[in-house]
Amino acid sequence: MTDVLIVGSGPTGLTLACDLTLRGVAVRVLDQRAGPHRESRGKGLLPSSLEVFGRLGVAERLAAIGTRGVVLRKYFDGEHITDTPSGDGLLMAQWQVEEVLRARLAELGVRVEYEARVTGIAQDAQGVRAALADGRALRAGYLAGCDGGHSTTRRLLGIPFEGHTEEADTMVLGDVTAPGLSRDHWHQWFSSDGGGMMLCPIPGTEAFQLQASPERDEVGQPLPPSLEGFQRLFDRHARVPGIRLADPTWMAAWRVNVRMAARMREGRVFLAGDAAHVHPIAGGLGMNSGILDAIALARALAAALTGPARAGVLDSYEAVRLPAAAALLADTTERHARVLAAVREPGRGTEVGRD
Ligand SMILES: Cc1cc2nc3c(=O)[nH]c(=O)nc-3n(C[C@H](O)[C@H](O)[C@H](O)COP(=O)(O)OP(=O)(O)OC[C@H]3O[C@@H](n4cnc5c(N)ncnc54)[C@H](O)[C@@H]3O)c2cc1C
Repeated sequence: MTDVLIVGSGPTGLTLACDLTLRGVAVRVLDQRAGPHRESRGKGLLPSSLEVFGRLGVAERLAAIGTRGVVLRKYFDGEHITDTPSGDGLLMAQWQVEEVLRARLAELGVRVEYEARVTGIAQDAQGVRAALADGRALRAGYLAGCDGGHSTTRRLLGIPFEGHTEEADTMVLGDVTAPGLSRDHWHQWFSSDGGGMMLCPIPGTEAFQLQASPERDEVGQPLPPSLEGFQRLFDRHARVPGIRLADPTWMAAWRVNVRMAARMREGRVFLAGDAAHVHPIAGGLGMNSGILDAIALARALAAALTGPARAGVLDSYEAVRLPAAAALLADTTERHARVLAAVREPGRGTEVGRD
């Protein structure tokens, strides 16, 4: 019998799965994807996550991959202005974090089950039943919806995702190579026209994560990402002749959303990570806050399943993490405003979101 069915194998679901397994709880991890992805997405592990990962037995493996003390190199209108340190985190791509967690989980005897899309959830006093798109039905004691910002779990439970979307506040993102460009810095080019581009080297690869203000059409609507568009933006903001961006392995458009779930628990079903809260990326708190949700949820579920029965132990999760989510939305909104203002001044960049 599965104790906890985990829907989603992003950083939140994988952290939860490792922690619960180490605590002697039987889990299954389902993901709708066909297999692991290679998208850089969240690229910083904060000290709070690294501390947790020490207990899960993956800190050394992560440290062997990630970069510490990467220097942010700031340019304005193409001119190098200043260099600043980036803080005490470990810089690496989200897919690399997930790869390490998946390997740890496999050592503990659990493998992610791919092509397993949850489409229905029902619960009674004894447990939860999840219906899958392929017609299967799985039973478990509890279900954790770690299925991202568009969470099916949240939708099936009818939990409102309260907040707003900043339609005009958009970015294009991607993973590309830039042969000839120094990999010793996180390059941050900003321009007096208000736009900018950042290229951050992903350790152990030839790739850079690209983040840029999008190109816009004649009525000001953002254009979708493309390699040609990335090159035009690079030429406009970086102004480094001879560098050709290439090999795009991921391209995405991203909008600022500031939203949180009205509840993180409905009976035997829980929400964690982006399924419960989404917010600006300033400060790099998205993946890291999902990891903290996962640890709090693992503690509560393990206490309920393996400890002496304690009334209210499952309520402790939402009691702690719902106010934390509200504080996170306020904090990241404020950091985001600080970054947007700072990049208009030569020599300043994303570091102001980490202060
Ligand atoms: C450009 C960018 C930069 C970022 N930078 C940072 C940063 O520096 N630091 C940081 O902490 N965060 C950062 N983030 C945010 C971070 O990427 C997210 O917060 C993080 O991915 C959330 O993890 P998660 O596990 O909760 O959800 P996800 O990573 O979205 O994982 C959800 C999983 O659930 C699966 N799934 C969805 N629906 C179903 C279903 N019905 N059935 C089965 N499986 C399902 C999906 O396939 C997916 O694998 C950044 C994001 C972006 C886009």
